[in-house]
Amino acid sequence: MSNVTLIILCAGNSTRFGLQAKKQWLRIDHQPLWLYVTNRLKNLNSFQKIIIVSHKDEISYMKNFADDVDFVEGGDTRQQSMLNGLQNVTTDYVMVTDVARACIPEDVILDLIKNKTQADCIVPVLSVSDTVVFKDDTINRDEVKLIQTPQLSNTEVLKNALNTDIEFTDDSSAIKSIGGTIKYIKGSQKSKKLTFGDELTSLDCLKAPNNCCFNGTGFDIHPFEDNKQMYLGGVKIEGLDYGFKAHSDGDVLIHSIIDAILGAAGAGDIGEFFPDTDEKYKGVDSKLLLNSIVTFIYNVGYEIVNIDVTIIAQQPKINPYKIQIKNTIAKLLNIEKQFVNIKATTAEKLGFIGRKEGVAVQSIATLKYYDWTNR
Ligand code: ZN
Repeated sequence: MSNVTLIILCAGNSTRFGLQAKKQWLRIDHQPLWLYVTNRLKNLNSFQKIIIVSHKDEISYMKNFADDVDFVEGGDTRQQSMLNGLQNVTTDYVMVTDVARACIPEDVILDLIKNKTQADCIVPVLSVSDTVVFKDDTINRDEVKLIQTPQLSNTEVLKNALNTDIEFTDDSSAIKSIGGTIKYIKGSQKSKKLTFGDELTSLDCLKAPNNCCFNGTGFDIHPFEDNKQMYLGGVKIEGLDYGFKAHSDGDVLIHSIIDAILGAAGAGDIGEFFPDTDEKYKGVDSKLLLNSIVTFIYNVGYEIVNIDVTIIAQQPKINPYKIQIKNTIAKLLNIEKQFVNIKATTAEKLGFIGRKEGVAVQSIATLKYYDWTNR
């Protein structure tokens, strides 16, 4: 069995990437970039364990995609994320890579592993073919190296080297700072890191996202409660002396939309994101809940195509509010209003809805992958 652990850093929030979807969640056909990178490296059969370091809000969703890797919560900086990952490494050697290096050639990885006992840190480098000037002086370019990642390190040496407040730009600089040894091997132009959105299409190893659509349904019911303000679809319903009984503000329409969106993304349900046992959500404005779900959905690589809603209510009268609800929901979802449809029906005086005891709402949402090839 190999004595190398692979750490893949995926905790970045892509602030320099200029896209709404986080870099690690862009789809390569159906696979998020982080999974594509993981599977490619896993297929080399060279690692005892793979550790994915990720944002805490995304780990439970990531577990839907892979159950044979370990997930670790990231830190505020790359170095902190790396340290969090290293705490879970038990092998003698560790290779650390960024999810943004999606197209590293296999021979670079295998060459790093082959050389693992040769120094404390094995580093791929590129030579420079352009003329290099340092502070107005042309210097011998044969002595200049461009350092690449991933690098392979002796686990204990790397842990010791990072046990400091100094921020290093790569593992080898940290190891050098405590007197560790470095061995350079030949890197590759293909190991380039994806930094900006428009660089994506220049990488021929990445397939475009699949263009299929995903549907999810949502359904919610709330009973009426006296002496409360009613909110439906984020809109205040006037002239009533009752609202909805709930832990939150009881906006049954928004709750149903949240479940439809989560369903389409395969991301569970509203209760998993906002447990009704949590005091934090007592009386909460459901618009805020929808907001945070929409941010999550865009972050993990989806776009919302359309939403269709059916309100089943004997009372209140929905018609006067339909347009306002449609506009409010479209704004919250960040889509054009023609892609939001609000329908209303009564229960023909049957059952609890017909007896005017509460309201039910049913929704369907359609999502597609964010298309990074068009940007
Ligand atoms: Zn609800």
